[in-house]
Amino acid sequence: MTAQLIDGTAIAAQIRQETADVVAELKREHGIVPGLATVLVGENPASKAYVGSKQRACAELGMVSIGHKLPDTATQQEVEKVVADLNADPDVHGILVQLPLPKHLDEEKILGAVSLEKDVDGFHPVNIGRLSMKGREPLFVPCTPAGCIELLVRSGVEISGKEAVILGRSNIVGLPVSMLLLHRNATITICHSRTADLPGTCRGADILIAAVGRAEMVKADWVKPGAAVIDVGINQVWVEHPADQEYTCAVTGETFVAHRKDQSEKGGRRKVGDVCPSCNEAWLKGQRRPECGSDRETMALFRKYKLVGDVDFGDVNQVAGYLTPVPGGVGPMTIAMLMHNTYRGALHSLKNRIG
Ligand code: NDP
Repeated sequence: MTAQLIDGTAIAAQIRQETADVVAELKREHGIVPGLATVLVGENPASKAYVGSKQRACAELGMVSIGHKLPDTATQQEVEKVVADLNADPDVHGILVQLPLPKHLDEEKILGAVSLEKDVDGFHPVNIGRLSMKGREPLFVPCTPAGCIELLVRSGVEISGKEAVILGRSNIVGLPVSMLLLHRNATITICHSRTADLPGTCRGADILIAAVGRAEMVKADWVKPGAAVIDVGINQVWVEHPADQEYTCAVTGETFVAHRKDQSEKGGRRKVGDVCPSCNEAWLKGQRRPECGSDRETMALFRKYKLVGDVDFGDVNQVAGYLTPVPGGVGPMTIAMLMHNTYRGALHSLKNRIG
């Protein structure tokens, strides 16, 4: 017997459709269009891609997105000024500061500057504080943890009275998802890098949430038969390509494995360096081309990779009762919950207006 697959793509699509319906109603009844402002500082390609997909989701669901892009030299004051202007803008119902921010910026101060009422990421200390207190309701719940709960609830997994073990205690996943499970009357155990007996502790879980960022760490013998396992991890692991060979970086002397562009490869590859077709000298990404006198166009060098979770899917699938895949599990839920939070932000501003 294998686990019942929890299809995050299908559940996220359901939530997006539900959100599109209430957004249309809000527009029809009250003339309000939910607006999400994104603040992107710097050129991090992954951050750019995340912001792009959030903006596309807004458009699909009938919401407005307002993009603010600042250079990675932006000062603390400049970023805080953008946040202050967005706080004051009545057409903005949600503000998302894309993380990570460049190192010279004070992330805690910037996130704390986002108005509590527009904190659609749910990272404001007051929202996290309310989430952690009995009988208090945060205005917004962080999106990935909220997505994990939706996956369980919509798959019919009972939470109340169950033993839940959470692997990871980060502010953005482990801690808030633990608080959400506690609110739903699970008995929680939070594990981290100093936990003495991880496999043994995990084996006690009826619900196991893995959010550690360690590729395929959770094995079948960590899992109680029939448990619901939610895999939050997104890890990139290198896989072999038939044309892989070893290169030595002409600049740093480091050796690396890569292959020249393969037209049949669709996605799942990452550029790691370049090679000069004349002298065959290679260099790692981020290094300058060594002088060899040739002006021939350089050839890119790639490595093939795949995404895996924190759970060894093939192994755990034999034991668990429910299991999320990676990709296609928790990942699609994050944006769906962000869209839902932005709608809630607009609803909250309407309630404030009506009084
Ligand atoms: P962090 O690195 O912030 O936290 C990792 C946590 O795991 C820490 O609490 C750490 O313990 C613990 N940990 C790390 N290594 C071990 C170990 N060997 N044994 C036990 N505990 C360990 O990660 P995040 O919470 O931000 O993310 C976790 C994973 O989830 C990542 O793969 C990330 O990419 C993914 N993610 C996925 C999202 C999605 O949309 N699907 C959204 C956000 C994250 P300690 O506190 O002691 O250091």
